[in-house]
Amino acid sequence: MDPVTCFVIATLMTLLNGAILGLVHRDLPEALRPSAIDWRVSTLLMAGGSTFLAVQKLAPAGFILPLANALLMLGATGYWRAVRRFYGRPASRWMVVPALVGTIGIYWFSAHSPNLVARVVIASVVWSIALLGAAWTLHTAGDGERAISRRVLEGIFVVMTCFMLLRCAYFVIANPAGASVVDKGSWINALTPMLAAVMPVIGTTAFLLLCSERIRREWERAASTDYLTGLANRRTLNAEGDRRLEQARAHADRLAIAVVDVDHFKSINDRYGHDVGDLALKHVASRLQSACRGKDLPARQGGEEFVILFDRIEPAQAIAAGERIRAAVEAMPFVAEGAEKTITVSIGVAALADTDKSFDDLLRRADHALYAAKSGGRNRVELAE
Ligand code: GH3
Ligand code: MG
Ligand code: MG
Repeated sequence: MDPVTCFVIATLMTLLNGAILGLVHRDLPEALRPSAIDWRVSTLLMAGGSTFLAVQKLAPAGFILPLANALLMLGATGYWRAVRRFYGRPASRWMVVPALVGTIGIYWFSAHSPNLVARVVIASVVWSIALLGAAWTLHTAGDGERAISRRVLEGIFVVMTCFMLLRCAYFVIANPAGASVVDKGSWINALTPMLAAVMPVIGTTAFLLLCSERIRREWERAASTDYLTGLANRRTLNAEGDRRLEQARAHADRLAIAVVDVDHFKSINDRYGHDVGDLALKHVASRLQSACRGKDLPARQGGEEFVILFDRIEPAQAIAAGERIRAAVEAMPFVAEGAEKTITVSIGVAALADTDKSFDDLLRRADHALYAAKSGGRNRVELAE
C-alpha cells in the first residue's frame, strides 16, 4: 500500500476514534472530562496533521509541511497534557514550547533551505519529548493504582517514541536526497502512517479503560469509606471483622477490638452547632488514625462511635492500645471558634473469646465494656469480661 493511502486510512481511523470518544465523553464524570477533551482534541489534531501530510504534494511545501507537522506535534503534546490532567497534575504552558520551536524549524527547513532529514530530526525530537513526557507521567503518577490499562498506555507511548527515534536514525543514515515522507518503496514510509493509525486506536481504548478503572476505584472507595471522616465505614468494618475473625480462628491468632465513643458529644453540637460537631468528629477520627499501628483498622460505626480492629494482639496489649488511643484524643484539644476544647472518649475493649460465634458477638461484648467505662466516669478504658 502506498503511503498516501496509508495516511488517508490513518486519518479515517483516527477521526472515527475521536468520534467514539466524543460519544462517550458525556458519560464520564466531571473530574475526568478536561483530560478526555484534551485527548479528543489531540486525536483530531493528529487526524488533521495526517491529512495535510497525505496531500502535501498539492500545496507549497513551505506552507503545508509546517502546518501538518505543527498539528501533529501539538497533537502529541496534547496527549501528554491529557495524561497529566488525568492525574491532576498542572498543565504548564511551557509544554507547548517544543512544538512551537519545532514548527519554526520545520518552516525553515521546508521554505528556506529544504532539508528532509533536518525536518524529520526536528519532528522526532519534539514527538519524543511529548511522548516520553506522557510515558513518564503514567509511570510516576499511578499513586499505587495497579491498572493494566495504565501500563498498556505507558507501553504505547514508549513504543511510539522508539519508533520515532528509529525512523529518525533511518533518515539520518539513509539520507534520501530529494525524497519526502510519502514516497513509495520505503518500508519506513509505509509503516509510519500504519502506526499512526493503529496507535491512537489502541491508545484511546487504553485511555478509556483507564477512565473506567478510575471510576470503578472511586465507587469502591465511596462504598467502603465514611464520607465525613474518610475512615472505613460500617460495611467495611463488618466485612473486615468477619474476615479477621475467621483468620484468627483458622490460625489460632489473637484478635481484639475497641469500641470508642465520644464523651458528651451532644453538648458540642448543642453549643457550637452541627457543622462544628462534624469538624470535631473529623478531629477525633484523625487522632484515632494517628494512634493506630500497622494493620490496625479504625472505622466509624456511626454517629460519634468508632471501632478499632487490632491486628493480632494479646488482651493485655489491647488494653494498653486502648489507653494509648484514649490519651491521644485527650492530649490534642479540638479548636472551636478560636477556643481550645478538650475532647475525651470512653473505650470498651474486647478480646476474642471461645464464646464469640461471630464478629457481632465480639462487638456486643466490647459495647458492654463501653457502657461500663461510661458509667465508671467516662474518659477511661474497660476490658470486657
Ligand atoms: P455520652 O458521653 O453518654 O456518649 O454522651 P453523648 O452526648 O456523646 O451521647 P448521645 O448519644 O446522647 O449523643 C450523641 C450525639 O451525637 C447526638 C447526635 O446528634 C450526635 N451525632 C451523631 N452523628 C452525628 C454527626 O454525624 N455529626 C454531628 N455533628 N453530630 C452527630
Ligand atoms: Mg457519646
Ligand atoms: Mg454514642
